[in-house]
Amino acid sequence: MEPPGYAEILPANPAGINRLKTIFMALLPILRYPDPRLHTVAKPVEAVDAGIRRLVADMAETMYAAPGIGLAATQVDVHKRVLVLDISEDKSKLQAFVNPAIVWREGECVGEEGCLSVPGIYETVKRSERIKVRALDTEGEPFEIAADGLLAICLQHEIDHLDGKVFVEYLSRLKLSRIKAKLAKQARITA
Ligand code: ZN
Repeated sequence: MEPPGYAEILPANPAGINRLKTIFMALLPILRYPDPRLHTVAKPVEAVDAGIRRLVADMAETMYAAPGIGLAATQVDVHKRVLVLDISEDKSKLQAFVNPAIVWREGECVGEEGCLSVPGIYETVKRSERIKVRALDTEGEPFEIAADGLLAICLQHEIDHLDGKVFVEYLSRLKLSRIKAKLAKQARITA
């Protein structure tokens, strides 16, 4: 039987994701905190080519399968500035950002965050309330979006990954060491 095409899992999308439906998918392993590779600063993408579209497609499938609402390339050990997210209820609004940059921010908000690289841990982090992000789409075309609420939080969380930062590192040292101990215990149980 043929593997499913992107038409089935990826919706039409203004960011050019449609083109991905011809690419076959692969699940990528997600790095787990405190893997030191999560601290790698990702390099800008020089050309948005078939390799990048393939990466976006694989990252999307990996995110949906996890399941999660966002994934940065850093988390799958690819150190290029690429992220995907889908905060819609019905998982119908995949968005991909290549070389994303926050060009404006305003206000402050707090929300509870989780991360596919830090399974089972949910903590409150302070973020900018409203942001504007400039990026390239999967055709290499520049676009800019204004974001608030969950989208703004998710974008800031994922862009942090590209800069080698994991959300738990905003917490106190004490909290962070407790989280590390908990994750180490989980790793022993699942090993
Ligand atoms: Zn994360």
